[in-house]
Amino acid sequence: MSVQTKGEKVYRGTAVSGGVCRGKVLVLHHTQHLVSRRALEPGLIPEEIRRFEQVLVKTRTQIKEVQRRVAANMSGSEADIFDAHLLMLEDRVLIDEVMRLIREDLVNAEFAFQQVSGRYVAAMESVEDELLRERAADMRDLVGRVMDNLLQVRDSADLNHLTEPCILVSRDLSPSTTAQLNKKLVLGFATDIGGKSSHTAIMARSLDIPAVVGLKTLSEELETGDYVLLDGYNGTVVVNPTDATLFEYGQLAKLKASLDVKLAEVLWLPAVTLDGKAVHLSANIEDQHDVEAVIAHGAEGVGLFRTEFLFLNRPAPPNEDEQWQVYHEVAAALHPNPVIIRTLDLGGDKFVSSLQLAPELNSFLGWRAIRFCLAQPDMFCHQLRAILRASSGGNVKMMYPMISGVDELNQANALLEKCKQELKAKEVPFNPNMEIGVMIEIPSAALIADALAKRARFFSIGSNDLIQYTLAADRTNEKVSHLYEPTHPAILKLIKYTVEASHRHGIWTGVCGEIGGDPTLVPLLLGLGVDELSAAPPVIPEVKYMIRKTSIAEARQLADFALQCDSPSEIYAACQKFALQTAPSLFEKT
Ligand code: PEP
Ligand code: MG
Repeated sequence: MSVQTKGEKVYRGTAVSGGVCRGKVLVLHHTQHLVSRRALEPGLIPEEIRRFEQVLVKTRTQIKEVQRRVAANMSGSEADIFDAHLLMLEDRVLIDEVMRLIREDLVNAEFAFQQVSGRYVAAMESVEDELLRERAADMRDLVGRVMDNLLQVRDSADLNHLTEPCILVSRDLSPSTTAQLNKKLVLGFATDIGGKSSHTAIMARSLDIPAVVGLKTLSEELETGDYVLLDGYNGTVVVNPTDATLFEYGQLAKLKASLDVKLAEVLWLPAVTLDGKAVHLSANIEDQHDVEAVIAHGAEGVGLFRTEFLFLNRPAPPNEDEQWQVYHEVAAALHPNPVIIRTLDLGGDKFVSSLQLAPELNSFLGWRAIRFCLAQPDMFCHQLRAILRASSGGNVKMMYPMISGVDELNQANALLEKCKQELKAKEVPFNPNMEIGVMIEIPSAALIADALAKRARFFSIGSNDLIQYTLAADRTNEKVSHLYEPTHPAILKLIKYTVEASHRHGIWTGVCGEIGGDPTLVPLLLGLGVDELSAAPPVIPEVKYMIRKTSIAEARQLADFALQCDSPSEIYAACQKFALQTAPSLFEKT
């Protein structure tokens, strides 16, 4: 029975894309592909294999078309998601296995494909790593598409024929379906499963469609036509909202609209505190397509270019020229603003299949980042030369991740010097004075900050790792997430020590970990003396707003209090109180 006949009911999930909407639900039930096993005569096998190959070609054309449409309507990074689909579609091991089954078991293509792809999806869904698990959604998406084509059914979630506005509710929503959503008719969406960093969530954020995931059995409990209110800030879906709830949300919508006006007003203003301290506010990016968002959100360049993303989802690592092209494009587009390119940070939770690294028991403590690069000097030098070459066409700076001691920095700089000599010999232009920075993300680096500061032009605190390495709490493991506390006194002491060491040696310190994009923690970081903040483009306006409302004198008092306090939760509460008093409008929506 529909819940329409009942009173208000609230479902709670994970908020992945901000905003509130209300309207009638459209429940999407995924088409179950009914596949039967058909025994084929040996003479029919070549034709069956040809049919399978034709479907792969057709699917490829469809994906390319969706990718083209997405690229035209959204940023390039969303369109790139379909590169992963194309790579999966071209997976030789999968294709050969399907063909082998058809040939050896004399069965129909859809049956063979279902068997093989089912094993793939199950394997992907069973891994511990959340990111990899979320890639299973991509695989399911692709499998559904191939199956539709083999069985000649229409796209299982064809949303091209909507006639009235609706809120989509489904067990899951594939990235390719999400990419095709018509913003005028799809007011928001809610799914039973999914995580914050899934491609579907990423797309919802860039489409600016409110979305809530992880609502467990919502799609089974609702029916098309039910009336709901979806709150993408707080992660709730309210079925049959009462007048009181609707009134409450009406007030919230007004607050959000006035916040947007306030954020738009600061977009092109400098990030300066009330008492005149200029804070360099830059963005974190993963590829050249993010440049548009950097500019649109009013960031002053790039504070962290995570280059390893250029190495993921491809059969071989990008060569020197390919890398140069990307670095050059970003640097030229943002000139004269700085672009800080971080050298390769593979390992930990970022693996590249093309490099076939052996699994490690303690990957975050293992062969990661600069350690891996120093052991692969040829590959590292490709990147160093590409970055040096890009430095001639923009304001390029470079930093090394995971530096634990001076020797690593010296070794990396020695390779950099060698690359400079090679380029010089070939008369290839580069900036010989390109600034080199060090990421401070291991406690040992923070504690020898004086020694590192003598050898670097800037520091960038990678708080995501600094927290996990200081508190011995795996940043990807939800079982120890309660121990992963950014306001732990040990973290504050390390940040303070790093900042002071850098200033003693006349260099600056930034923060490019997630805490740099959290408006609640921004005043504390400013009070600790941080000079630069770098965050994901969408949060830049809120961070800038907070900076412009903060006085450094008061932020220092907050930091002084925090530094003499023993309790992480007490420090966090003080930060919340300060932030709420300083910029209440930022927190009214949650
Ligand atoms: C960090 O560790 O804070 C950081 C910015 O690097 P990443 O998140 O890429 O490890
Ligand atoms: Mg890091």
